[in-house]
Amino acid sequence: MGIRIPGRHNTNCRCTDERVEMALDGALSRKEQERFLQEVKLCAYCSEKYEREKSFKQFLCNKVSRKALSPSFINSLKEKIGKQPGHGRFIN
Ligand SMILES: [Zn+2]
Repeated sequence: MGIRIPGRHNTNCRCTDERVEMALDGALSRKEQERFLQEVKLCAYCSEKYEREKSFKQFLCNKVSRKALSPSFINSLKEKIGKQPGHGRFIN
């Protein structure tokens, strides 16, 4: 009890790699997400995986947002430009 063994998957743990991915992608419902976050705390392997992937995703997001614009932003930009007369063909 209370001993944290990194990398060891708790035998009672119901978290799977797939569920970790879904939680990170926001693919779980709010209830599922809450249950997942409670379960993941009980398993050293899954909580480490979750935290590591989460910070990696945030790192990627920060990197990408500086280089490229999000598709939704580009679409709204296209709409704005498309509505301006004479600029309809500016962006394909
Ligand atoms: Zn686990």
